[in-house]
Amino acid sequence: MKISNVTFKIDIPLDEDGFFSMQCPYCNNRFKINGQYFKTLDKDEVFCPICGLANKVSTFYTKETIDLSMSIAKNYAEEIIYNAFKGFNSKRRTKGIIKTKGFKKPSPIVESLYENDDTLIMAHKECCNVKLKVTVLDKWLTPYCIKCGGYEHER
Ligand SMILES: [Zn+2]
Ligand SMILES: [Zn+2]
Repeated sequence: MKISNVTFKIDIPLDEDGFFSMQCPYCNNRFKINGQYFKTLDKDEVFCPICGLANKVSTFYTKETIDLSMSIAKNYAEEIIYNAFKGFNSKRRTKGIIKTKGFKKPSPIVESLYENDDTLIMAHKECCNVKLKVTVLDKWLTPYCIKCGGYEHER
Protein backbone atom coordinates (compact mmCIF):
# COMPACT_ATOMS: atom_id res chain seq x y z
CA MET A 1 0.00 0.00 0.00
CA LYS A 2 1.37 3.33 -1.02
CA ILE A 3 -0.13 6.69 -0.29
CA SER A 4 1.66 9.43 -2.14
CA ASN A 5 1.08 12.76 -3.79
CA VAL A 6 -2.33 13.20 -2.29
CA THR A 7 -3.55 16.69 -2.94
CA PHE A 8 -6.81 18.04 -1.72
CA LYS A 9 -8.39 21.42 -1.32
CA ILE A 10 -9.26 22.80 2.06
CA ASP A 11 -12.22 25.10 2.03
CA ILE A 12 -12.00 27.63 4.77
CA PRO A 13 -15.50 27.99 6.20
CA LEU A 14 -17.10 31.38 5.64
CA ASP A 15 -19.44 33.30 7.88
CA GLU A 16 -23.04 34.05 6.94
CA ASP A 17 -21.92 37.00 4.77
CA GLY A 18 -19.28 34.96 2.95
CA PHE A 19 -16.33 36.36 4.88
CA PHE A 20 -13.51 34.61 6.68
CA SER A 21 -11.14 35.69 9.44
CA MET A 22 -7.57 36.81 8.97
CA GLN A 23 -5.04 38.08 11.45
CA CYS A 24 -2.20 40.50 10.80
CA PRO A 25 1.27 39.04 11.54
CA TYR A 26 2.54 42.51 12.55
CA CYS A 27 -0.15 44.13 14.67
CA ASN A 28 -2.14 40.95 15.48
CA ASN A 29 -5.39 42.69 14.73
CA ARG A 30 -8.15 40.62 13.23
CA PHE A 31 -10.26 41.44 10.25
CA LYS A 32 -12.29 39.60 7.67
CA ILE A 33 -12.21 39.49 3.93
CA ASN A 34 -14.82 38.45 1.41
CA GLY A 35 -14.18 34.85 0.37
CA GLN A 36 -14.97 35.47 -3.30
CA TYR A 37 -12.73 38.50 -3.43
CA PHE A 38 -9.96 36.60 -1.70
CA LYS A 39 -9.64 34.26 -4.69
CA THR A 40 -8.76 37.21 -6.93
CA LEU A 41 -6.11 38.62 -4.59
CA ASP A 42 -2.40 38.61 -5.30
CA LYS A 43 -1.32 36.03 -2.72
CA ASP A 44 2.21 37.42 -2.46
CA GLU A 45 1.25 40.84 -1.20
CA VAL A 46 -1.67 41.52 1.06
CA PHE A 47 -1.93 44.75 3.05
CA CYS A 48 -3.17 44.75 6.61
CA PRO A 49 -6.18 47.09 6.73
CA ILE A 50 -5.25 48.25 10.22
CA CYS A 51 -1.48 48.91 10.17
CA GLY A 52 -0.99 48.99 6.38
CA LEU A 53 2.00 46.64 6.29
CA ALA A 54 2.16 43.99 3.58
CA ASN A 55 3.18 40.34 3.60
CA LYS A 56 2.35 37.04 1.93
CA VAL A 57 -1.25 35.97 2.39
CA SER A 58 -0.19 32.79 4.20
CA THR A 59 1.12 34.89 7.09
CA PHE A 60 -2.36 36.34 7.61
CA TYR A 61 -4.11 33.09 8.43
CA THR A 62 -5.50 32.88 11.92
CA LYS A 63 -4.41 30.19 14.34
CA GLU A 64 -7.92 28.73 14.14
CA THR A 65 -7.74 28.49 10.36
CA ILE A 66 -4.36 26.75 10.52
CA ASP A 67 -5.60 24.39 13.23
CA LEU A 68 -8.66 23.58 11.19
CA SER A 69 -6.60 22.96 8.05
CA MET A 70 -4.32 20.67 10.02
CA SER A 71 -7.20 18.69 11.49
CA ILE A 72 -8.87 18.39 8.08
CA ALA A 73 -5.59 17.10 6.63
CA LYS A 74 -5.12 14.69 9.54
CA ASN A 75 -8.71 13.50 9.32
CA TYR A 76 -8.33 12.98 5.60
CA ALA A 77 -5.22 10.85 6.10
CA GLU A 78 -6.90 8.81 8.84
CA GLU A 79 -9.90 8.26 6.60
CA ILE A 80 -7.67 6.81 3.86
CA ILE A 81 -5.90 4.54 6.31
CA TYR A 82 -9.16 3.51 7.92
CA ASN A 83 -10.76 2.65 4.58
CA ALA A 84 -7.68 0.77 3.41
CA PHE A 85 -7.56 -1.37 6.52
CA LYS A 86 -11.30 -1.77 6.92
CA GLY A 87 -11.52 -4.10 3.93
CA PHE A 88 -8.40 -5.89 5.00
CA ASN A 89 -9.72 -6.49 8.51
CA SER A 90 -13.13 -7.76 7.48
CA LYS A 91 -11.68 -10.11 4.85
CA ARG A 92 -9.45 -11.70 7.39
CA ARG A 93 -12.24 -11.95 9.91
CA THR A 94 -14.69 -13.74 7.62
CA LYS A 95 -12.09 -16.36 6.90
CA GLY A 96 -11.56 -16.72 10.58
CA ILE A 97 -7.82 -16.79 10.25
CA ILE A 98 -6.85 -13.87 12.34
CA LYS A 99 -8.49 -11.22 14.41
CA THR A 100 -6.87 -7.86 14.17
CA LYS A 101 -7.85 -4.89 16.12
CA GLY A 102 -9.73 -2.62 13.74
CA PHE A 103 -8.66 0.91 13.14
CA LYS A 104 -10.91 3.41 14.77
CA LYS A 105 -12.99 5.52 12.44
CA PRO A 106 -11.82 9.14 12.63
CA SER A 107 -14.11 11.43 14.53
CA PRO A 108 -15.79 14.31 12.67
CA ILE A 109 -14.19 17.72 12.79
CA VAL A 110 -15.83 20.33 14.94
CA GLU A 111 -15.63 23.71 13.33
CA SER A 112 -15.46 26.53 15.78
CA LEU A 113 -13.98 29.47 13.97
CA TYR A 114 -16.33 32.29 14.76
CA GLU A 115 -16.01 33.15 18.37
CA ASN A 116 -15.95 36.96 18.40
CA ASP A 117 -17.67 37.96 15.21
CA ASP A 118 -20.06 40.51 16.59
CA THR A 119 -17.35 43.12 17.01
CA LEU A 120 -16.62 43.37 13.29
CA ILE A 121 -18.53 45.59 10.88
CA MET A 122 -18.49 45.92 7.10
CA ALA A 123 -16.11 48.37 5.44
CA HIS A 124 -15.66 49.10 1.77
CA LYS A 125 -12.63 50.31 -0.16
CA GLU A 126 -13.64 51.99 -3.39
CA CYS A 127 -10.16 51.93 -4.96
CA CYS A 128 -10.22 48.17 -5.52
CA ASN A 129 -13.87 47.51 -4.67
CA VAL A 130 -12.83 45.47 -1.63
CA LYS A 131 -15.24 44.48 1.09
CA LEU A 132 -13.74 43.99 4.52
CA LYS A 133 -14.93 43.50 8.05
CA VAL A 134 -13.04 45.40 10.71
CA THR A 135 -13.77 46.66 14.20
CA VAL A 136 -15.84 49.81 14.65
CA LEU A 137 -12.73 51.68 15.74
CA ASP A 138 -10.68 50.50 12.76
CA LYS A 139 -13.43 51.52 10.40
CA TRP A 140 -13.60 54.93 12.03
CA LEU A 141 -9.83 55.28 11.61
CA THR A 142 -10.22 54.32 7.93
CA PRO A 143 -8.77 50.92 7.03
CA TYR A 144 -6.07 50.49 4.41
CA CYS A 145 -7.02 48.71 1.21
CA ILE A 146 -5.97 45.07 1.49
CA LYS A 147 -5.12 44.94 -2.21
CA CYS A 148 -3.29 48.20 -3.00
CA GLY A 149 -2.59 49.55 0.49
CA GLY A 150 -4.51 52.72 -0.35
CA TYR A 151 -5.78 54.97 2.40
CA GLU A 152 -8.33 57.34 0.85
CA HIS A 153 -11.35 58.28 2.84
CA GLU A 154 -14.66 57.03 1.63
CA ARG A 155 -17.17 59.47 0.31
ZN1 LIG B 1 -1.50 44.95 10.86
ZN1 LIG C 1 -7.20 49.51 -3.29
